[in-house]
Order: sequence, then structure tokens, then C-alpha cells
Amino acid sequence: AGARWDAVTAAAAEHGLAPISGAAGTVGVVGYLLGGGLGPLARSHGFSSDYIESFTVVTGTGDVVIASQDHNSDLYWALRGGKGGLGIVTEVRLRLIELSTLYAGSLFFEEEHIEAALRGWIDWTATAHAQVSTSAAILSFPPLDFIPEPFRGRRLLHLRFAYPGSHEEGETLAAPLRAFAPIYMDMLGVLPVAGVASIHNDPCDPCPTWMEGTFGSSNYVPCRRSSTPKVDCCLTHAA
Ligand SMILES: Cc1cc2nc3c(=O)[nH]c(=O)nc-3n(C[C@H](O)[C@H](O)[C@H](O)COP(=O)(O)OP(=O)(O)OC[C@H]3O[C@@H](n4cnc5c(N)ncnc54)[C@H](O)[C@@H]3O)c2cc1C
Repeated sequence: AGARWDAVTAAAAEHGLAPISGAAGTVGVVGYLLGGGLGPLARSHGFSSDYIESFTVVTGTGDVVIASQDHNSDLYWALRGGKGGLGIVTEVRLRLIELSTLYAGSLFFEEEHIEAALRGWIDWTATAHAQVSTSAAILSFPPLDFIPEPFRGRRLLHLRFAYPGSHEEGETLAAPLRAFAPIYMDMLGVLPVAGVASIHNDPCDPCPTWMEGTFGSSNYVPCRRSSTPKVDCCLTHAA
């Protein structure tokens, strides 16, 4: 407990291993896992909490207990998605996977191509390879000096892609996405697994966000072809 994903990912990578982590290396491991955890490898590897072998927990009565399949299995079940309030987790034993590189990263599309790329992506998800995980975000960068010049003052579609396989297979699987519209920036390629946080490139420092009419909340919408109304809604709000 107390560790952030960056430290765990780096330590595991030294042995050719990887945790099934979230998108950002600065997020706390325990807080993330208690919510279930659905990260950049969601479709190929599922929920991060499915990789938890056991917790050490201080309960409300002050007892220190192990929660696992064999000990306090109801608490073990509840902690893998039940979030806070069930006790203080002091230790998590987590199963790692053998993985050293991914074909992963992201594509950026300029504002005039957002609609074509977003609709193309939604259609593509209907038949996407089961091992490929993707997500999309419309990002509006303010015209402020600290924003890198290529992003400053622009609204871009950020299409994130992760495939735990070879460069050749990844190129083939990503080819349809690259054909949606002219690409503004292509940051997709072979990625050491320790660089998994660069797929989403979430901000490392606290910053204000506005999502679905709420400050500072998180709203991830799982997409499939029937998500067309959600895409319409996104495009309307991003306009
Ligand atoms: C930049 C960013 C990217 C993210 N990406 C993803 C993603 O890809 N997938 C995903 O599923 N989620 C993602 N999240 C959401 C993230 O999983 C939650 O915000 C999570 O609560 C963060 O935990 P924390 O430990 O960093 O924060 P904290 O605020 O420290 O913890 C959140 C809550 O977890 C509980 N908690 C934390 N530590 C303990 C402990 N030791 N014992 C008991 N309870 C504890 C407490 O209830 C606490 O209020 C992301 C969040 C951010 C900010």
C-alpha cells in the first residue's frame, strides 16, 4: 500500500513482467485496485482486480486479516471493486504477467477530422480483434504557454490503442484506424511495457477537468456499435 503504478511497473519490467495496471503511472495501486481497475489492456486482460492474490487488511475492529480465495473470501470479493470503507489495506499480493513490449500508443486527429475518425472508430469496434484495447477522447488544449506547441489551443481527437503482441501484427490491426482520416500525429509503435502510461498520457499533476457537466469526475463510457447516440452526444458537446 502507498505505492503508485509507476514504481510497480518499473520493478516488474526488470524481470520481463508487467502488472495489469491503469492508464496513469501516478495513480495509487490500492485505490485503483479497490475500484476494480479497467486499464489500457482491458480487452486482452480484463479487470486488474482479477490479478489480486490476497490483501492484508486492518478491519473496523482493528484486526489484521488476510483476504483471499481461502481466507475471508467474502471480504476478498468485496474489496475487488467495492472501493473504500471496507478496511485499510496495508498490502496487496498481485499476479504479474509475462510481457515486455506492446504495440501501443495513440493517434491524434485534427478538429475537422474528429467526426470521421470517431464514427469510423465506433464502427470498427464492432469487429475489432479481441486482444486489442482502444479508447478515444476529444481533448481541448487551452492556448497557454506551458502546453507544447503542437497541442496548444487545439481541439484534437486522441485515439488510444494497445495490443500485447508483435510489431507486425500490431501494424496490421492498427491499419484501419490510420485510414479513418488524415493523421495529425502518429505516436503508435512498439512500446516497452514500462511506458504503458504514455498510451493515454494523462496529466501527472492535479488539474481541473470538466466532464458531463461535473468538475473533477471521471466518466468512461464503454463503446460498441450501439453507442452511436453517445457519439452524437459527444460531438454535440465538443462542438
Ligand atoms: C490520471 C488518472 C488516470 C486514471 N486511469 C484509470 C484507468 O485507466 N482505469 C481505472 O479503472 N481507473 C482509472 N483512474 C481512476 C482511479 O483508479 C481512481 O481515481 C482511484 O480511486 C485512484 O486511487 P488513488 O489511490 O490514486 O487515490 P486516493 O484518493 O488516494 O484513493 C481513492 C480511494 O481509494 C481508497 N483507498 C486508497 N488507498 C486505500 C487503502 N490503502 N486502504 C483502503 N482504501 C484505500 C479510499 O477510499 C480512497 O478514498 C484514473 C485516475 C486518474 C487521476
